[in-house]
Amino acid sequence: MSRPLPRPTAETQPFWDGCAAGVVRYQCCQSCGTVQRVPRALCATCQSDALAWRDAGGFGHVLSHTTVHRAPTPAFRGDVPYVIALVDMDEGFRLMVNVAGGTAAPLAIGSRVRIGFHEVEGVSLPHAEVAA
Ligand SMILES: [Zn+2]
Repeated sequence: MSRPLPRPTAETQPFWDGCAAGVVRYQCCQSCGTVQRVPRALCATCQSDALAWRDAGGFGHVLSHTTVHRAPTPAFRGDVPYVIALVDMDEGFRLMVNVAGGTAAPLAIGSRVRIGFHEVEGVSLPHAEVAA
């Protein structure tokens, strides 16, 4: 069974293009300066469509994390257990990503992490690495 992979939309395509280039990108409103936690067609604060994409520095802190012991689909059976983290990025947006090193990673709520990238079936996916 093949893995489910991201399906970029018009709102998320710049993010995935950034991943392919090894850069985390985020959406910011040019009218009011709001950093969108989730990419949208309009600003969540002022409803402006004057949105721009910026390159992030690639660092953040773990808001929460969980260990997956039961694969959600047969495609992930070989991966369990694995760790997923919600990361609040320094620029003010949020990512949900796998954690490099899985259960062996020294991860805790508040851990400083760096976003890295790995390729799955030709798609560059972001992951969190615990920063030293
Ligand atoms: Zn705005």
